[in-house]
Amino acid sequence: MKKTLLAAVFAVAGLGPVQADTHSLGLDTDYRALTPSVENVLGYPIGSRISSPAAMYNYFQALQQTHPDQVKLFNYGETWEGRPLYYVAISNAENIAELGDYRAGMQALANPQNTSSEQAERLINELPASIWLSYGVHGNEISSPEAGMLTAWHLLAADDQATQDMLNNTVVFIDPVQNPDGRSRFVSRYYMNTGMEHSADRISVEHNEPWPSGRSNHYLFDLNRDWIALTQPEVAGQVDALLETYPLIFVDLHEMGGDQTYYFTPEARPYNPLIAKSQREALWTIGENNGRWFDEHGFDYFTREIFDAFYPGYGASWPLYHGTLAMTYEMASARGHKFRTKDGEILTYGDGVQRHFIASLSTIETASNQRQRLLQDFWNYRKQAIEQGKKSDERYVVIDSKQDPAGSKRLAGLLTQHGVQVQQSTQAFEACGSDFSAGSYVIDTAQPAHFMVRTLLDEQIEMAPDFIAEQKRLRSNNLPDQIYDVTAWSLPLMFNLEQQRCARLPRMELSQVSGELIAPGQLSNPDAKIGFVAAWGDMNSARLLTAALREGLTVKQSDLAFTFKDGTSYPAGSLIFTRADNTDDLSARLTELAVTSGAKVHGVDTSWIVDGPNFGSNNVQQVHAPRIALAWDEPFSSLNAGHTRYLIERQFGYPVTAIRADQLRRADLSRYQVLILPTSYGSLTETFGEQGQQNLTQWVERGGVLITFANATKWAVEANLLASALEKEAKSNELEVHTEKRVDGLLLNSAEHLHQYVNGADTDPYWTSGVLTKLDVDQEHWLTAGVPENVVSLTVGNQIFRPLTINNGRNLMTYAGADELAVSGYLWAENKQQLAHKPYLMWQPRGRGMVISFTQEPTYRAYLDGLNVTLMNAIFGGASHARPLR
Ligand SMILES: [Zn+2]
Repeated sequence: MKKTLLAAVFAVAGLGPVQADTHSLGLDTDYRALTPSVENVLGYPIGSRISSPAAMYNYFQALQQTHPDQVKLFNYGETWEGRPLYYVAISNAENIAELGDYRAGMQALANPQNTSSEQAERLINELPASIWLSYGVHGNEISSPEAGMLTAWHLLAADDQATQDMLNNTVVFIDPVQNPDGRSRFVSRYYMNTGMEHSADRISVEHNEPWPSGRSNHYLFDLNRDWIALTQPEVAGQVDALLETYPLIFVDLHEMGGDQTYYFTPEARPYNPLIAKSQREALWTIGENNGRWFDEHGFDYFTREIFDAFYPGYGASWPLYHGTLAMTYEMASARGHKFRTKDGEILTYGDGVQRHFIASLSTIETASNQRQRLLQDFWNYRKQAIEQGKKSDERYVVIDSKQDPAGSKRLAGLLTQHGVQVQQSTQAFEACGSDFSAGSYVIDTAQPAHFMVRTLLDEQIEMAPDFIAEQKRLRSNNLPDQIYDVTAWSLPLMFNLEQQRCARLPRMELSQVSGELIAPGQLSNPDAKIGFVAAWGDMNSARLLTAALREGLTVKQSDLAFTFKDGTSYPAGSLIFTRADNTDDLSARLTELAVTSGAKVHGVDTSWIVDGPNFGSNNVQQVHAPRIALAWDEPFSSLNAGHTRYLIERQFGYPVTAIRADQLRRADLSRYQVLILPTSYGSLTETFGEQGQQNLTQWVERGGVLITFANATKWAVEANLLASALEKEAKSNELEVHTEKRVDGLLLNSAEHLHQYVNGADTDPYWTSGVLTKLDVDQEHWLTAGVPENVVSLTVGNQIFRPLTINNGRNLMTYAGADELAVSGYLWAENKQQLAHKPYLMWQPRGRGMVISFTQEPTYRAYLDGLNVTLMNAIFGGASHARPLR
């Protein structure tokens, strides 16, 4: 039985009629019965059912069992909900037997500083090419994981020479379900909602997922934005695996809206300028070959118009900075078994599986055909990366560990996890015109990961001037701009760490840094008579505080800095554990907590303070372990709710109770001392209504600490809990816009005049996709204890609030001046003018409680580490400064 490829695959797979039955790709094939199909293992033909992650894991294990010489399954972690994270390697028996040699060979090519040209030449001649296919990072983008199973089956079952050639030339890595928790959520809810027939109607229950959708992982992260901060196990594990294998091509296969067709490379502008020209050219070649296959099968597609590669935190972008050719594919989603398109046609789940399967195969073909060139290009890329660093007069990046021991340690560990070599000085030194303390971190950018270092650390990544000019033109014609995501992400800025760069370093001893994110702390003077103190101001002492509270220790926090007689001084917010307040084993328990939290804890033999408050002062508060509630469900942003819960639970180390918005309207919240309202998509005034407003106001008046982010801050204004106001766009030229049906004549004497009129109505400030902004910090308040005079925040959207007047509260963080406030990314000039000196963090006492409002999301993507101490102060300092009747 000889059939054309697609006809054969789908006949065997039971996917039904094939759109194109003639083609000339020369992939006629028989299928070996030995290879178990999805139907054999799971009991239904492929594409006829959306497979659960558990079923898929069974399928890949079955493939490994029946083809032990051709399939190897590797686990790389576990999701928050306990599902396995894994990938499989598929190739011919020889390549799989020599997988260890392949990995060693790729490590040698990836590290030209340790590899001779002769060695490299030999490896380039001998090694197979490799491709990594990652499916289903968004759990409700359902067809690609199924295509991952079909691709694996086809590679093993097909008998034709073309497929054999692919396997002889290529190791295919398949990561079939990048986001098992999200997919599982989608699958169980989808089938829960089906009836006698699957509905194709976009308003049917099948096609409308409840909050939170299956797109995100357990903590509701968009995993396709997490490749910078690597906070989630799904992404961190995959990054580890990629750094072991260095695939030459990486594809991330998604779905988009059901009315579209299929998208593949080349990508849209703006380009990240740190992507090499050779990479962009090679991506065109891949796209062109895909186009040929899609033409053969009569599949529509498009390229270049959307999906840019500017932000490096996408899965399809990150590998580019290690020299891999990486890209996104997108298929129109049936978001269920079938979907009626705007043209009245029925798009099926099987259609998506077909398209992704064909795109997978055509890309494997490119990898196979270009084997030697891809290996050569990779070697050249890594060599040239080192040369770039050597040539640069900013070759060395130095970060002083003293400015924030916890943050700088975390950054150094994180960079190491990204495959960057980071070193640490063992002694103090002078470099780049400054003095650095022992333990400072040094990054030599003359390394193969040069472009990864640059894209993660550079304070500004420029978009092309003609692209910017085009955005201004679009804007002046009242058209939306083409900026798809944040335009700034520099890790040191987001961590609020200063970096210095220079061409040369003095000779000194350096040690290699590991991927560890927390350095164990210690306790000194364990037999101290009075107790122990720990300086406030970084995440080490923040983790010490939460751990101590969870352990039931009694801990106090000073609102003001204090100095002992011997001259040692501690900043505002510092933690105090006295023996009198605690049990006899205090020293032993704190010793343990110092190790795990990273904090440095010092025993003190006296409580005699020569400057600042004594321990018994009114300016020293006992911190009562607060119960924290977090608003959940519609209309809150699932992303922001998830980021916030993750940050508090997994980085601060403290539990949160999520409460649905609807319940907050009338629930008795007296058990909770803190309530956080993340930003929302819809109107909270509508959700909460009069009843919710009253319930929350009364709770605040009785001593609750209400913390609001972004849109929730807008609600706090509407609910009269915050005496601020949301601004309209500031107009430079006031033109009266008509409000009546019949009006006086108006003379427009230029096109510019017309533009002013059209934009003269009450409009919001212009939308920004996300830039890093500088804040001025009021240093005289417990809410900013341990926070430096300036911090970096992320500003997204178009909300600008009025400052609080002094009779109502305090503006504790405000935007810097118009010329200074945009520290990275692209921000419109008008927004700079209007944002200048406006509040970012406001505090307004009310009754026995208070409202703490951030005008943006301080927990955005959980990667604004420089704002963590402020958020800790808001939660724990807020709770200890409220005055509920206990
Ligand atoms: Zn997607």
